[in-house]
Amino acid sequence: MLDARTPSGPIEQKWDKCRYEMKLVNPTNRRKHSVIVVGAGLAGAAAAATLGQQGYHVHCFSYHDTPRRAHSIAAQGGINAAKNYRNDGDSVLRLFKDTVKGGDFRAREANVFRLAEVSVNIIDQCVAQGVPFAREYGGLLDNRSFGGVQVERTFYARGQTGQQLLLGAYQALEEQVAAGRVTMHVRSELLDVVIVSGRARGIVTRDLVTGQIECHAADVVVLATGGYSNVFYLSTNAKASNCTAIWRAHRRGALFGNPCFTQIHPTCIPLSSEHQSKLTLMSESLRNDGRVWVPKKKGETRPPNDIHEGERDYYLENRYPSFGNLVPRDVASRNAKEVCDEGRGVGPHGQGVYLDFADAIHRLGMQTVREKYGNLFDIYQRITGEDAYLVPMRIYPAPHYTMGGLWVDYHLMSTVPGLFVGGEANFSDHGANRLGASALMQGLSDGYFILPATVPDYLASTKLDAVATSDPAFEEAKTEVKARIDKLLAIRGKRSPDSFHKELGRIVWDNCGMARSDAGLRKALARIPELREEFWNNLCIVGTGEELNQSLEKANRISDFLELAELMCIDALDRTESCGGHFRVESQTPDGEAKRDDANFSYTATWEWQGLGQAPTLHKEPLNFEYVPLSQRSYK
Ligand SMILES: Cc1cc2nc3c(=O)[nH]c(=O)nc-3n(C[C@H](O)[C@H](O)[C@H](O)COP(=O)(O)OP(=O)(O)OC[C@H]3O[C@@H](n4cnc5c(N)ncnc54)[C@H](O)[C@@H]3O)c2cc1C
Repeated sequence: MLDARTPSGPIEQKWDKCRYEMKLVNPTNRRKHSVIVVGAGLAGAAAAATLGQQGYHVHCFSYHDTPRRAHSIAAQGGINAAKNYRNDGDSVLRLFKDTVKGGDFRAREANVFRLAEVSVNIIDQCVAQGVPFAREYGGLLDNRSFGGVQVERTFYARGQTGQQLLLGAYQALEEQVAAGRVTMHVRSELLDVVIVSGRARGIVTRDLVTGQIECHAADVVVLATGGYSNVFYLSTNAKASNCTAIWRAHRRGALFGNPCFTQIHPTCIPLSSEHQSKLTLMSESLRNDGRVWVPKKKGETRPPNDIHEGERDYYLENRYPSFGNLVPRDVASRNAKEVCDEGRGVGPHGQGVYLDFADAIHRLGMQTVREKYGNLFDIYQRITGEDAYLVPMRIYPAPHYTMGGLWVDYHLMSTVPGLFVGGEANFSDHGANRLGASALMQGLSDGYFILPATVPDYLASTKLDAVATSDPAFEEAKTEVKARIDKLLAIRGKRSPDSFHKELGRIVWDNCGMARSDAGLRKALARIPELREEFWNNLCIVGTGEELNQSLEKANRISDFLELAELMCIDALDRTESCGGHFRVESQTPDGEAKRDDANFSYTATWEWQGLGQAPTLHKEPLNFEYVPLSQRSYK
């Protein structure tokens, strides 16, 4: 039975009560403890810096050459906080409610409330660091809206919010590096988690420059290694983002929560060529002012500016008058797919809808639109060659974020004692659909506030024997890591790692993407093991293991995607209801919205690894909704 360790009592007192009851480590004893933090994105850098400030010995690992390159830097649109600076009816309770509803009632209420509560501190923390959030003329912090809400609570720094937040976390981290409390290990990739006497006590890494395999021991391990959207091959994530850290931890006993809950973002630049290896997001913030439409007529070929008002279908505004263009992402994506499937899509492959700023430019003036969104228009222009100030942008949904991840309790500890997970890597607080601008909020909440409270409690309340890397468990894990790398290098087949990744991505996108069916998922479940078999027999890696070898790095990561993809499809097949981004075509309301089955699926699905090719075991964490009553989501 999973124990989420949710504190008792009224929801608004749970976190305070938990903090009060947690044990502390005396300041002079803190330096006796070592903490490994894997990941230096927003969640990892914030956690490592804060634990360093507290006085622990922190070792922080990243496969990047600097923390500043973490995928978090790509975040564009903003970060939510229930500050109610607009005085438009916002509150902690409202952010909590919006998030539970936005996630289609598949998140743990207590965690979501805590997230909303902590959100207000994040902004203060970042402002104190000097993060240059956008300000109004009078100097007050500015806000805008994101999907699924009716207030303006999103703080932003133009279209570069992630970059500015990451610079804030990075400088806090570097301060601790200079103080000698954090040691950075860059270009160092975790390839295994080491368990000693049932507790996470270290990791095995590969130095990406020399190929050296190394062991590192500590009292506790924190994973903040990001999401796994690149299982789809094409996604808005950084090319290197992968699932290896959480997948290897899963293989060592950490249960995986809701693997099939993935987010397809509605506003990305459409695919332009079969040879493309990356998709680009156009921030959701653009839907504050941009209007989404397609021609009413199927097969329309005229340029957009020649299509008159009466011939346009502003389908989101028409179908969802209350939220209009700011419906949540799952709803916007499904609707875009639907109009394109009807033959009303635009652009070269008919896989696109317009995001039009003509009205906004008319209403606000070119200069204001440029100030708010200028860098996004520039990105769009460089990729498509089109000027979105003059013609509408073309957008289409693309894989973007993963709500699934390692299952964690209220303390953010996985089912492996001593293994904590933060940021996008955990199964998180977003249920079956994440609302915009809430990933940064969650990553920073985990990193600056939750982990720095719960990790010390674990250290203070656990008897930890001294463990060295000479322990047999480290030797065993290191031998396994080496054997896997040697096996990959020895195949010497004919296909490149990318060709396998591309084929896998297509299978997952077609069958476990925006729409999922029993037949499609079964097809994928038959095909993925075959592809994995071929991978292990026909893979070609150039170069050796004792050098910088990106072909080997990719192959290693793809070997994990090939296993994770299967679990995603198993989970999606098992959950016969639709909820949020998990749209089972068999479970729809009469007007085509996701239809939940609360009687049978009001739980978090957590899966236990049983070995390759063996059926994983399902454990359920029941979800109870005491504060936000279960209801059919409606944005009409
Ligand atoms: C284009 C884009 C725009 C976005 N915009 C927004 C937005 O406006 N607002 C919002 O709230 N959210 C946004 N998101 C989502 C948000 O950016 C991410 O969810 C968040 O930044 C993830 O942070 P993280 O710290 O969990 O992981 P990451 O930033 O992905 O960091 C992962 C870290 O782990 C390290 N790592 C991973 N695996 C290993 C390993 N095996 N060994 C060693 N190191 C490892 C990496 O080197 C990196 O340092 C956006 C996402 C995308 C793709």
